[in-house]
Amino acid sequence: MITITFPDKSTKEFACGTTPMQIAESISPRLAQDVLAATVNGQPWDLSRPLDADAEVQLHKWEDPEGKHAFWHSSAHLLAEALQELYPGVKFGIGPAIENGFYYDIDPNGNKITADDFSKIEAKMIELAQKKEEIKRAEISKADALKMFGDRDEQYKCELISELEDGHITTYTQGAFTDLCRGPHLPTTAPIKAAKITSLAGAYWRGDEKRNQLVRVYGITFPKKKMLDEYLALMEEAKKRDHRKLGKEMELFAFSQNVGAGLPLWLPKGAALRDRLEQFLRKIQKKYGYLQVITPHIGNKNLYVTSGHYAKYGKDSFQPIHTPEEGEEYLLKPMNCPHHCEIFKAYPRSYRDLPMR
Ligand SMILES: [Zn+2]
Repeated sequence: MITITFPDKSTKEFACGTTPMQIAESISPRLAQDVLAATVNGQPWDLSRPLDADAEVQLHKWEDPEGKHAFWHSSAHLLAEALQELYPGVKFGIGPAIENGFYYDIDPNGNKITADDFSKIEAKMIELAQKKEEIKRAEISKADALKMFGDRDEQYKCELISELEDGHITTYTQGAFTDLCRGPHLPTTAPIKAAKITSLAGAYWRGDEKRNQLVRVYGITFPKKKMLDEYLALMEEAKKRDHRKLGKEMELFAFSQNVGAGLPLWLPKGAALRDRLEQFLRKIQKKYGYLQVITPHIGNKNLYVTSGHYAKYGKDSFQPIHTPEEGEEYLLKPMNCPHHCEIFKAYPRSYRDLPMR
């Protein structure tokens, strides 16, 4: 027997080899229906993976990030399975879950995939999901993994395997598709009831522009058709409220490539709106006793070396402006706080003056 400890610190005995899914079933049929993944002693864990020692177990449903993560990661595998069937010869890079859905990077290897194919891919995903295919985990040696993926000319997977430590390599298989993967995954593809391919993008293998350019296929899936409809409606509404679209329609601001993407040029109506917001802010700040100070937009590099900003951001974002005569270097200020420290130092003050506002 093994002792399972739940998040509320209650414990229960189970036979050795019990899976988190069987634990969920022992609690309630409803929970067994809703549960998607588990955490065992702080590690992500498949519902169908046996437990062979005492453990702390958390069960995750759709509402939990861990539940969604397993759901969308399994959906990435389902997408790959569909692509493998529809486009023989495609090669696979990586396919993770993301904040809203998942993607898979693929090398089309001569196949043409466009937005016109989305509905065909979605239909294939759902067709495969309805087969309720079991998603099986296997531990595999590095040599066997290299042979398995090498036999299928999966050059990207082989590159990943070659960097892994032997003894820690796992694969997950559903139907005719096997992926190199750490998991965790759903026990079967059955919970995936609705799928939408959302977009395609180019992505260099391993983010390196000198390597092959792959196609990144983005998608999202849900355990209920209604949830997908709601998500798509929400996306439509968000599009209508996109500030770039509204700003143009309402003549609030304009953008120019010559100035730079993301640098708004405030038009009279937008400037008036901005002024009203600033007045509102000033009123509130005054009400709560804040006093305004104003500091320059740039500062001597030494100020940010002292504050630590330079060590953290200097290389990437804040290149110095040189003054050849004085040999000084100035930076665009990354934050106001270093200037404010200098304001504090400008007069002799007591600790009793703190907090200053
Ligand atoms: Zn995976």
